[in-house]
This record gives sequence, structure tokens and C-alpha cells, in this order.
Amino acid sequence: MDWTSYHTLDEINGYLDYLAETYPDLCSIVNIGSSYEGRTMNMLKISTGGEGKPGIFIDGGIHAREWIAPATVTYALNQLIESGSYQDILDAVDFYVIPSINPDGYVYSWTNDRYWRKTRSNYGTICYGCDPNRNWSFHWDEIGASDNPCSEIYAGPSAFSEIEMVNVRDAISAQTDLISYLTFHAYSQLWMYPWGFTTDLPDDWEDLDDLAQNAVDALTAVHGTNYDIGSSTNTIYAAAGGSDDWAKGEGGVKYSYTIELRDTGYWGFDLPESQILPTAEETWAGIEVVARFVKDTYGKK
Ligand SMILES: [Zn+2]
Repeated sequence: MDWTSYHTLDEINGYLDYLAETYPDLCSIVNIGSSYEGRTMNMLKISTGGEGKPGIFIDGGIHAREWIAPATVTYALNQLIESGSYQDILDAVDFYVIPSINPDGYVYSWTNDRYWRKTRSNYGTICYGCDPNRNWSFHWDEIGASDNPCSEIYAGPSAFSEIEMVNVRDAISAQTDLISYLTFHAYSQLWMYPWGFTTDLPDDWEDLDDLAQNAVDALTAVHGTNYDIGSSTNTIYAAAGGSDDWAKGEGGVKYSYTIELRDTGYWGFDLPESQILPTAEETWAGIEVVARFVKDTYGKK
């Protein structure tokens, strides 16, 4: 694995296998199910053992063409596991990480259509795929989603019609002490919290805003990259059925964030490979702030 080029799904999954084989006391592969086209979906669980530790769930690639997201998530794995610098965090916090939660779409964006966004399911219409980030059940299809199967923001025939999202939902639900959910997208340079279905804010929005501010301060300090912070609806647009809304509203994960990585539109989804490493480095600084906060606030004393 490296962060000077983008990698195929097989290479990303190979990196998870490598980590599990190389650091067996720290990492294990958890098969969370299969995709619509039958691809195995693997999650890396990172834990030094023991019960009742707070957890952080991290995913990327829900939108296929946002290639910087899986790349940034694999870099977070590299830092956490291979750098040897974060033992104090690892002693206190468990991590659950899936770099690419839309594997069929990701492969299609490599083989057929670089700008493919959706899944690759088909329900008998001429168009393929649903927007997996409009497919979650919390206030599903209420706003900012489409009932047209040919739309880029097609919500799907029903909430959780997409098996990949069912798999991720169940993987989140299986963890009892998740404190934070981080889902990585591109692009726009935004660190966002719920809600996406309404301009209203969660009751505890100030807690989420404070942590987001600290994470972004650390992110910006690395390479000077500016991020905006706010609720999804008030920062980017209203979009119901997102995974972050579900994680907070149904999953009970307090610190749920959607992060839109580089850039602000010059390169867009075609972020040059020369920007992979700087993007991953600065984003890791933000993730580290979240991880330290979870350790200090929820870790066993
Ligand atoms: Zn996205």
C-alpha cells in the first residue's frame, strides 16, 4: 500500500488482509456480508482486547467516484496500526474500519465510468444503482432525494434496499459502545454533523460543533487547508437518508460526522495523486483529535 497512487478494491482489501496477518494481536478481519454483485465486504477491527471500551466506526467510499475517501481511510489505518505512535489511543479505544462500503460501485468507477456514484443494483429499470447515502431509514426519502431510478440521488425502492448499507448498518448495530461515526466523502472541505433531513439541529449540537472545531483546527494546522463546519443541511444541502443521520438518530452514536475531503471543486473527484498524501495527513490529524477526545472522555480511567 502507498498513498502516492489510487488503489483498486482488491489492493485495498489486500491491505486489510496484510494488516490482520502482520498485527494479529491488534487487528482482525470481520466479514460483514456480501455486496449486490457478490463481493466480500470486510471490516478491520482494531482492538487491544478487553470489554466495554468506547468505539469509533470509520468508513469511506459510500459514493464510488470519491476515490480520495478510501485512500484517506487506509492512511488512517497505517497511522493507527503501523506508525507505532498511538499505543495510548489503541489501549483505550476500539476501531471498526471499512475503507470502501460501496464495493460494486467502486469497481465500476475503475472499469467503466470514473464518475459513477451509486451502487450497482437493478430493480428492473433501465438505470442501475441507488444513492447509498439516501438509502438509510432515518427520515428516508423525505427531502433531497429522488424517486427516479435514473437520478444520481435515487433513494431506492425502499429504505435499506441496498444490501451494502444493510451490512454496514448491522456492523454498526453490533457494536455496543460506539461514541463516534466518521464517514468520508469528497469533495468540498466540510466537517459536518447531523441533521441532513432538516435545518433543525440535534439537542447536543454544541458538543458536536466543539469537537468538529477542534478536529478542523488540527487538520488546518498541517497544510493550511480550510474547512467549514456545521450541520449537513445548513452547510451543504438537505439530504435525508444519509448514514450519519442514521448513526445518530437510530444508531445512538453521539459524535456522528460526514467529512467532505479535498478539494473545493478545481479538481473535484479527479483529485491528483500528488494530493493523496497531504489530504490523508491532514485528515488523520482531525481523526486523531476525535480519537483522543473519545479516549480522554469515555476511556476507562
Ligand atoms: Zn459523497
